[in-house]
Amino acid sequence: MCRPDLCLNFANTRYYRGQATPTETLNAPADLAAWTKATKPPSAREFETALTLRETLYRLFNAQAEGKAAAPRDLETLNQALARAPARTILRRGRDGYSWHVDARSGTALALLAPVLWSAGDLLAGPRLDRVRRCANPECGWLFLDDSRAGKRRWCSMQSCGNRAKARRHYHRSREK
Ligand SMILES: [Zn+2]
Repeated sequence: MCRPDLCLNFANTRYYRGQATPTETLNAPADLAAWTKATKPPSAREFETALTLRETLYRLFNAQAEGKAAAPRDLETLNQALARAPARTILRRGRDGYSWHVDARSGTALALLAPVLWSAGDLLAGPRLDRVRRCANPECGWLFLDDSRAGKRRWCSMQSCGNRAKARRHYHRSREK
């Protein structure tokens, strides 16, 4: 299985990007292994490569969410990663349906992140690119695919940012009275 927003989920492993100290969930190679369900952690160097790729993906989709063109350098970085990632050639059928088989034995960042890279390519070249959004809370910066019918979803989730914004508006309104 290759979820269309897998690349966004990966970009969101660092969040509250609008704050002075964003929340980092990938602090060590073992964190990346856990996220990618790899059997062993990548080397420190491959881990750094993975983080660099993550920031490239964030910039690419953040530009999209802002209605801007991506920086040519970021697209070039993604293209190079796609070219060097394991080939997407083998389909397997499992309990949850079909999925692309990844040969991740090399343990490189590109092997671990192959499904992420594929999802990024599919999202960029696919029909849902104009549904890529960034949470309207400037401190949050969470990227998501807007699946709502009207296409007007603004928040990463109503539970966190949406409610906070509502509470803030309410607070301001009651002070203005
Ligand atoms: Zn948010």
